[in-house]
Amino acid sequence: MRNNAWLDRRMDVIWQKLMPEVERKNNVVILFKGKWKNKFAHIKLLGDGSTEIAINSLFRFPDVPDFILDTTIAHELVHYMHGFQSPHLQQFKYPHMGGIVEKEMKKRGFGFLLSLEKDWVKDHWRKLYTLLL
Ligand SMILES: [Zn+2]
Repeated sequence: MRNNAWLDRRMDVIWQKLMPEVERKNNVVILFKGKWKNKFAHIKLLGDGSTEIAINSLFRFPDVPDFILDTTIAHELVHYMHGFQSPHLQQFKYPHMGGIVEKEMKKRGFGFLLSLEKDWVKDHWRKLYTLLL
């Protein structure tokens, strides 16, 4: 089963693929947390200046495909890049305005994974959620 060390390595890989030019300006901690049905992750600037990325704990299970973790991590990293919950300059008024996260991901080659994610959420997530809980 995936653990926080796995997440940390995965974040490094996604960071390099998605946004190699974006500087890591603070400590970014990624961990499994919560068992949310309608939320896959969140990003939060902590009091000590580090950024926390929390990934739905149910995503530890192997029934959840790797590409779901990849798109979920990428989504939160785009927020970081856009200056939400990170030391970077905030580039937009709201984190999800006008589909900016998906646009950025598509621009950076994650469009195919995004479409896989959409289908998987539609076809599997609801049923799997009750099984894993
Ligand atoms: Zn978001």
